[in-house]
Amino acid sequence: MPAAKRIGQDDLRTHNMSVVLSTIARSRVPMSRAALAKSIGLTKATMSLLTDILLRNGVLRELAPTTESTYGRPATPLAFAPGHWVGVGMQINTDGIGYVVLDVSGDIVCSDWHERTMVNVDPDAAFAELDGMMRPVERDLAERGYRIAGSRLALPGLVTNGDRLLVARNFGWRDIDLNRYAVFSRLDASADNEATLAAIAQIPGYASQRADRDWPIGPLDSFVYVSTDIGIGGAYVREGQIVRGDHGFAGEIGHICVDLHGSLCRCGRHGCLETIAGRRALTVAAGLAEDDDSAAASTELLPDLYAAWRGGDTKAALAVERALSALAAALASTVNMIDMENIVLGGLWSGFGDGLLADLERRVQSQILARDATRVRLMFPPVTEHPAMRGAAVMGLRRLFDDPMRFMTAD
Ligand SMILES: [Zn+2]
Repeated sequence: MPAAKRIGQDDLRTHNMSVVLSTIARSRVPMSRAALAKSIGLTKATMSLLTDILLRNGVLRELAPTTESTYGRPATPLAFAPGHWVGVGMQINTDGIGYVVLDVSGDIVCSDWHERTMVNVDPDAAFAELDGMMRPVERDLAERGYRIAGSRLALPGLVTNGDRLLVARNFGWRDIDLNRYAVFSRLDASADNEATLAAIAQIPGYASQRADRDWPIGPLDSFVYVSTDIGIGGAYVREGQIVRGDHGFAGEIGHICVDLHGSLCRCGRHGCLETIAGRRALTVAAGLAEDDDSAAASTELLPDLYAAWRGGDTKAALAVERALSALAAALASTVNMIDMENIVLGGLWSGFGDGLLADLERRVQSQILARDATRVRLMFPPVTEHPAMRGAAVMGLRRLFDDPMRFMTAD
């Protein structure tokens, strides 16, 4: 057979297998070979060939046959097999360092998080700590027979080419080649912005079995994700895919200017959204910390902020009111710009409760140009526990979904 034809068939098999994996991940119920073939538009013979490879390589397993079948005979549903294929998500963030190992079946195999305020920290020390956390994990996974499909690192800054951090202002880091760190190269990792990865964690079935939960966003829906930490990050998901922009920096909603004469932002500009609605800005404006106080950067003051706001403290109420106005302005401008109805509000906001969410939704709605014809929907995300780290692990598994034949032995 000519070489060109063989390559074409390999590409086709890779593509078809990738679609099979995504279809299984996005489905709420396990699907049989016949149901998969029908849903994707492949012959049953091709589907049997593909699923046999996935079964032999421990990606899929067969569940007990169901007695009822629309195809005339008992059907054997397929599901992801736990215990074989994992993605590794790592994070160095302003509030700590950690990792999570996610099985393709959706289970968390192991995870750890060292909580601490990480402002102006030495990068060598941070990566040495991450290295120390990961070495025993890598050993343990190998002993238990796991295969790592891929590894990602979430960083709170601008990342380019997957391996170069241009700037992370809250760390005081600038222009770092991440390959110089052993943990990064040993795990063949790539890096990404934390808000982008946190948004990916909210897309059902992106590269692991979707969770069976009531969540209005489907695998192919569109939404804007707002991540609020010390600063504010964001990401834009269109029909289930991240929109990265021409240079990979899209979604920086925290640096939308809401007041040209406002306070100086850490990015060097004035009046950015995060100077009013970020965690540091909120705790300082509420009178809970001084601006140069390291406490202002930590998560420790959040319970105090929530309590002060609930208790009707004037300074806290004013700080939150000002933040809501600024957020509403930035979000409405975003919606007017890209025509998007779903906004997922991650980070500290869920601690204020559903009343605040409804209030913010009303404010955004009133500023939408098409307000008579469309409705925006604001919601808190389903994944709130270190979502960027979780998204990083999902992106690690995504390598298996994007190029499955690379990981499979065919016979
Ligand atoms: Zn800024």
